[in-house]
Amino acid sequence: MTDAAFAAEERAPMSLAGATRGEIVRALMEIGVPARELNMRASQLWHWIYHRGARDFGAMRNIARPLLGKLAARHTLTRPEIVAEQVSADGTRKWLLRMSPVHPSDKGSEIECVYIPESDRGTLCVSSQVGCTLNCTFCHTGTMPLVRNLTSAEIVAQVLVARDRLGDFPRGVAPADGFAPAGEGGRAVSNVVFMGMGEPLYNFDAVRDAIAVMTDGEGLSLSKRRITVSTSGVVPEMARLGAECGTMLAVSLHATNNRLRDRLVPLNRRYPIEQLLQACRDYTGASNARRITFEYVMLRDINDSPAEAKALVRLLKGLPAKINLIPFNPWPGAQYECSDWETIERFSEIVFNAGYASPVRTPRGRDILAACGQLKSESEKLRARARTMLEESLAIGQD
Ligand code: SAH
Ligand code: SF4
Repeated sequence: MTDAAFAAEERAPMSLAGATRGEIVRALMEIGVPARELNMRASQLWHWIYHRGARDFGAMRNIARPLLGKLAARHTLTRPEIVAEQVSADGTRKWLLRMSPVHPSDKGSEIECVYIPESDRGTLCVSSQVGCTLNCTFCHTGTMPLVRNLTSAEIVAQVLVARDRLGDFPRGVAPADGFAPAGEGGRAVSNVVFMGMGEPLYNFDAVRDAIAVMTDGEGLSLSKRRITVSTSGVVPEMARLGAECGTMLAVSLHATNNRLRDRLVPLNRRYPIEQLLQACRDYTGASNARRITFEYVMLRDINDSPAEAKALVRLLKGLPAKINLIPFNPWPGAQYECSDWETIERFSEIVFNAGYASPVRTPRGRDILAACGQLKSESEKLRARARTMLEESLAIGQD
């Protein structure tokens, strides 16, 4: 073995938990699996990793021992470590995850991942980057510098961690605190939203590769319609997302005019509202008129007037759209406050009357709503529809 190859061997073993098919094939080639066997062996490994939730190679009973031994000498199936878990009263779970170190002196980057159980689905909110290069002024992540992009395996591994923890693999054990898996067909994780840390379209290739693993029938077998990528408006990448991934799209709009959006979402100075909405029209046109979700964070006295609700409705006219009103989630040092519930209710009423069925839907957690000052105590006063919307809204996990 050359010195360089030896040094490579000394590096931390690479985990195959979250690996793409290509990465698995490469790992098999490196240990000398003949070309004619590669696809078959890759499928077997994928099956163990994604359908059975194997955490060590020894469990893979239909694969020859010597081959497993060679794989185990170079690879692991280690997942990101759960450093902390918070569970809200409604079963929403927020995990702080530490990524495996990429070299021996690396302490491992930390990201957040949120699981939101509902009666008919279980949604996992994943991160795509450690930090963010953009600086939306209401976003806590925006105050962090970008540490690095996550790899596709690290994005997929968030789903594996959630499924491990929720007992969502065969013979898995559900957590003892009483929240049963909620998703379709008993699957705890039936939906994935890219609404955690980072701007997914600035880590396009990794996000695309992760989505391929999530939606492959031999991978995590999630429907594309159950995966939503949220963007602050990276216009040039939106068409690629439609063409290469075909998932659902959410757009963080937050303002109806460029002057205000420039301030809230500084990326707007590069890709103003007109360009953004054109990219949205192209997206729905090119992808069988899928509905786009527009996210609108409710900031007191900033963007929450009835006139702005009407402007929002006018702006989205003709687009197959859904609007999520997100109560602002405060964080230390934030320069904004959350709109009060009367204001949110008035805003949502205007949007609702314009024909948008579910105005407040974005994942949030009651515990996070509780952090939103007066919201909880005032929730009793809400009318039934608004209360349901409030209860359906779950944590995004920005702080
Ligand atoms: N970077 C992507 C996806 C991650 S942010 C994006 O911006 O779309 C996911 C959503 O949370 C976005 O709509 C974002 O605007 C919103 N968000 C960020 N900070 C928030 C806060 N403090 N309160 C409520 N929503 C927030
Ligand atoms: Fe980044 Fe999205 Fe936060 Fe803006 S809202 S800073 S794009 S994570």
